Order: sequence, then structure tokens, then C-alpha cells
Amino acid sequence: MTQIFNFSAGPAVLPKEVLQQAAHDMLDWHGSGMSVMEMSHRGPEFSSIHRQAMIDLRELLNVPANYKILFQQGGGLGQNAIVPLNLAGRRPDPVIDFVHTGTWSGKSAKEAARFARVNIAASSELDHFTRVPARDTWRLSDDASYLHICTNETIDGVEYPDAPDVPADLPIVADMSSHILSRQIDISKYGVIFAGAQKNIGPAGLTLVIVREDLLDFASPQCPSAFHWKTCAEHDSLYNTPPTYAIYIAGLVFAWLKQRGGVAAMEVINIEKARLLYAALDADDFYANRVDPAYRSRMNIPFYLRDESLNEQFLAGAKERGLLQLKGHKSVGGMRASIYNAMPIEGVQALVDYLNTFAGR
Ligand SMILES: *Cc1c(COP(=O)(O)O)cnc(C)c1O
Repeated sequence: MTQIFNFSAGPAVLPKEVLQQAAHDMLDWHGSGMSVMEMSHRGPEFSSIHRQAMIDLRELLNVPANYKILFQQGGGLGQNAIVPLNLAGRRPDPVIDFVHTGTWSGKSAKEAARFARVNIAASSELDHFTRVPARDTWRLSDDASYLHICTNETIDGVEYPDAPDVPADLPIVADMSSHILSRQIDISKYGVIFAGAQKNIGPAGLTLVIVREDLLDFASPQCPSAFHWKTCAEHDSLYNTPPTYAIYIAGLVFAWLKQRGGVAAMEVINIEKARLLYAALDADDFYANRVDPAYRSRMNIPFYLRDESLNEQFLAGAKERGLLQLKGHKSVGGMRASIYNAMPIEGVQALVDYLNTFAGR
């Protein structure tokens, strides 16, 4: 098989070493005689996998002791409903604040409106989602249940450089689906963080939720018990059957990250990968990325060809070189390169070479 590089936005590339380990363990995990898929989620073998994954993730993200890590199901879209079901009730006449920076924060606001009043505190829609609105323009509610932000807009390619400053009694809920583990974050600035695994963690099916302990117990009576954060936390995410195989693969990814120096070391590489790619896109006007450089995503990089009639030719030539899944999201068109942790810098260099060649540079 020729070398390929997979730029899919998700489900996305996984480290080759992780897939090799999984292939090795497929029929017989550590002499147990069972595949991980066949194990009881309460047996000693899976318990050890589960426990180690939790420990490694806590270490990688530097999760403070007063936060619970939950392994849930239902994905990012699931959390769009699960978050308001668990947290809107923090206030008697709940309003939820949103900052609208692109497709995903927009979807989250729409779903939340089924459960509570929604206040769009700021939006960059009129700027075609090319930036995070300046903090001093946000019109936060006086007493919102929480503020929801999407810290990396996967489709629009907009990333928050830092956690925003908000009043101390306003918890920030952050959808970090597409950039968790790609950069160092100060968890203590957030009330809740969630992320579908299939972008930068592991396979689809696992959803990671990190919740500050004082926010665990505001669920509405309608909240399904399988999605009740406090219930999940009390049962160590084993209240119902968790996505066992996805947790196992995520655990291998966590071990792989630790071996490579953890999140700080990945961040250094991710900065360099993004720098290389944006430099090639900015070199002249053959390509364009329209995001304000201060808010450009390091993980998801949408771009357009000046002459869009060349799109099919561009994609066909890329595929011939083993550069896969570069087509942009259907809602915005153009191209998109997702360069998560598991994308080696060689993949970005191969893409940059192709960008230069195709542009006739
Ligand atoms: C992919 C993605 C989602 C949706 O995840 P699903 O698992 O498909 O529900 C939500 N938010 C962000 C930022 C994403 O990138």
C-alpha cells in the first residue's frame, strides 16, 4: 500500500502505532483469550483498561481534583441536549447564553432552545464566521444558567486562542470536540467541557465530558438517567454499558500521547504544522483562507481555490498522491484539511508540496 495521508474532519486519522497495537490485540487481549469487544464491562480485564484510560486522560489534560471525567455516548450533538437537561436548571427561570461563531455553536443554540430560553450574546455571522466576536461586545445575561461556546469550529476553522474572561459565577460550557488534546488548556476556567471522540481522541461512539463537581446535580426530572451526569459520575461511567471498544482505543491514544511528551509536546508540533499549511495558502492569491489570522484553527483549515472550476481537478490530483478527504464540508464548499494530533508533519509537508505544485509555483 502506498503512503496515504487522511485529512478527514472526523471520524479521522488515528496513530498508526495505535491501530497496529489494536490489530495485535484483536483476538486475544493480553493473554485473556478474548477480544476487548467480548469482555464484560465489569470484569477485571476491562476494568483495568477503563481505569488506566481515566488516569492517563486526567494526567494529559491536567484535570483538577474537583472535576469529574465522564465517558458517555451520544456524541457532540447528544451533549447539545444533555447539557441543558443537566445544567439549565441551575437557575429557576433559565436562560442560556451562547456565542455564535459558526456551524456547531449555531446547532448547539438551536437544540438548547428546546429546553430553555437562549440568548445569543454575540455572533460573528455578519462577518461570515471569520472571527470570535471581541469580548467587549458580548451581551451576557445577568444571571444565565451557563454560557456555551465552541472553542474550535470544525467547519468554519475558527478557534479561540484562550478561554474568555467571564464573571466568576457564570460557568462556561465548551464544545472542544475537534481540538481537545491538541493544545494546553486551563480546565479550571471552564465549568463543563465535552468532546466527541472521533476527531482527536479515538473512534466514534465515545463522548468525553469533564464536569466541575458543583455543577453535577442540577438535572431536570426529564433527564434520562443514562445521561445524568451525577449518576454517571457516581458509577464511574459504568452505570450503563459504556462504549468499551472505543474506550480501549482512546486509552491506546492516551498512552501514545504520553509517550510523545503529552499535550505540551503535541502543541509545539501542531503550531508548526498549522504554520506550514497557512504559509502555503497565503503565499499568493491562488488559494484563500478567509479567517482572521488571530482566530485561525490549528486543527481544521478550510480553504478555497480562487478558480473554483479547478476543484475537481485539485481533488483528483490530491487523491493520486495519497492525500485523502480534502473536500470541504458541503455547507461551505471548497476544501478543508484537518490536521489532528495523529496527522504527522510529513503529511502536512506532502500537502504543502502539492499545493505549491498545483498552483504552478
Ligand atoms: C463533530 C462535531 C460535533 C458533532 O459530533 P457528533 O458526534 O456527530 O454528534 C459537535 N461539535 C463539534 C465542534 C464537532 O466538531
